[in-house]
Amino acid sequence: MAFYNPRFMELIALPAFEDNYLWLLHDGRQALVVDPGDAAPVAEALARLGLRLACILVTHHHGDHTGGVAALREATGARVHGPARERIPEPFVPLADGDVVQALGLSWRVIDVPGHTAGHIAYFCPDVDGAPLLFCGDTLFSGGCGRLFEGTPAQMLASLDALAALPADTRVCCAHEYTLSNLRFARAVEPGNLALAEYQARCTALRAAGTPTLPSTVGTERAVNPFLRSREGPVTQAVRAHAALTHNDEVAVFAALRQWKNEFR
Ligand code: ZN
Ligand code: FE
Repeated sequence: MAFYNPRFMELIALPAFEDNYLWLLHDGRQALVVDPGDAAPVAEALARLGLRLACILVTHHHGDHTGGVAALREATGARVHGPARERIPEPFVPLADGDVVQALGLSWRVIDVPGHTAGHIAYFCPDVDGAPLLFCGDTLFSGGCGRLFEGTPAQMLASLDALAALPADTRVCCAHEYTLSNLRFARAVEPGNLALAEYQARCTALRAAGTPTLPSTVGTERAVNPFLRSREGPVTQAVRAHAALTHNDEVAVFAALRQWKNEFR
């Protein structure tokens, strides 16, 4: 008889659209999926691996994160969880900061991370096979952060602060493969950051081999991501020089950094 260890989880990044990842976590029998913008790659993976979809976790309302929710729920009966303050395909279990979701026998803590959208949430589990795991949607990317479509710079800065405070070995599952273009910008902001230069070389090799750069880790992002480093001297100085800021207000610096990225080519 095969030994079944329900704590042994496999994490898979299913590519979708241009550059999305639909994150699938499974224990060999049951699966959860995060932000299924498209049902087809998820259904294909469930069939290929012989999995039952137990749970769908949604971080925010954008179509590339919710487009496959209804079809997957219909096909599998999976429970859907999503942000209480956003419109996602009904019915779903509405979640807000501090709520805990049980999925695959694991407890997932909900963290409010407004900024990209007004009600964006993230899901954090402190121990998945010995290390923490974070699903952060379009809030934190490797080397970057989401665009501010609905929230303010102050909100996004606070949201990123909350994620940066998670344990350094937390695996960061972002919803897009934006890493190389983010790192090109990061190098322009902080050319003297050696960890960043090394990380860029590593990610360039991964992409050349067709491999995702994700998951990243919170520790790596603290070391390389300018949006988690806007209070570090070299980043603050570069932003102030670029935007001709005459003061040191941390929200103004963060806002100018985000604006710089928006215009960066
Ligand atoms: Zn989005
Ligand atoms: Fe997205």
